Amino acid sequence: MKYYIGIDLGGTNIVAGVVDENFSLIATASNKTNAGRPADQIAETMAQTAAQVAEKAGISMEQIESVGIGSPGIVDSQKREVIFASNLDFYNAPIGQLLEDRLHRPVFLANDADAAAYGEFMAGAGKTENGQHISNMVAITLGTGVGSGIIINSKIYNGYGFAGGEFGHTVICLNGRPCSCGRKGCIETYCSATGLITTTKEHMQSNPDSLMWKLCDGDLDKVDGRTCFDAAEQGDKAGQAAVEEYTNALGEAIVNAINTLQPEIICLGGGVSKQGENLLRPIRSYMDRFCFDRFAAHRTQVRIAELGNDAGIIGAALIGLQAE
Ligand SMILES: [Zn+2]
Repeated sequence: MKYYIGIDLGGTNIVAGVVDENFSLIATASNKTNAGRPADQIAETMAQTAAQVAEKAGISMEQIESVGIGSPGIVDSQKREVIFASNLDFYNAPIGQLLEDRLHRPVFLANDADAAAYGEFMAGAGKTENGQHISNMVAITLGTGVGSGIIINSKIYNGYGFAGGEFGHTVICLNGRPCSCGRKGCIETYCSATGLITTTKEHMQSNPDSLMWKLCDGDLDKVDGRTCFDAAEQGDKAGQAAVEEYTNALGEAIVNAINTLQPEIICLGGGVSKQGENLLRPIRSYMDRFCFDRFAAHRTQVRIAELGNDAGIIGAALIGLQAE
């Protein structure tokens, strides 16, 4: 049996996992990141976490084929450096080499959203309905923001200077909602859970009789990503309108991705994706109306992610397999 270690380097926690050759996660361990420390100290904590998880899994470091790190920010996966990550205070931090010096195993590095996409591609939603493996996938995470990872020819694609693949920061509404990146109308401002909550509140404010007010005890601060979906299911007109506005925006975004790349699979993860068929049904209808591939023999499928929070660790563990 072959084993791999994946490390999810977050601003709060460093989580390491052992993944076997069947892509199953067999053990995890975590420590606090204590962000703001120099890169060599963070690498030391990553090495300790890796050693802890190997021990938990009952294997020695010599049995590990390779180690992968999923890091936030802009990542040079060739030099194995984090070019810039604001929440770690990293600038050109050579964490790949620093970890390799400590573990004496081959270390690979990817952006965390790319690692999660690769995890779904290899071990989760990245197969057709007949279970066939695919080569091209776009993974979109609908969380606090909109994360994305693009897989082309079975490899992570992120552009000339490793700053591409930021699908969430492409615009779907000119002069629309302001975005943290400085633009207006980015996909993230409409399709993230945060964007969904904004849309829900707008519909509540213009519909004082909506059931959504009851669902959040009359308190706008209690609105979450489920509020309008729950109300819609109970027949609330304003709830249905909010869901429709949200799924139309997500539909436009997904049609953009398909008309640009036409991957075999678009995979949706993150909190909002828990809506499952209630989300997929209107998206598929949007795709049937507007995708160029509606005239093609082979069409993109949209699916819900399967690995949840484990995608990042499993994907990080398997980064080294891209070369094979
Ligand atoms: Zn943006």
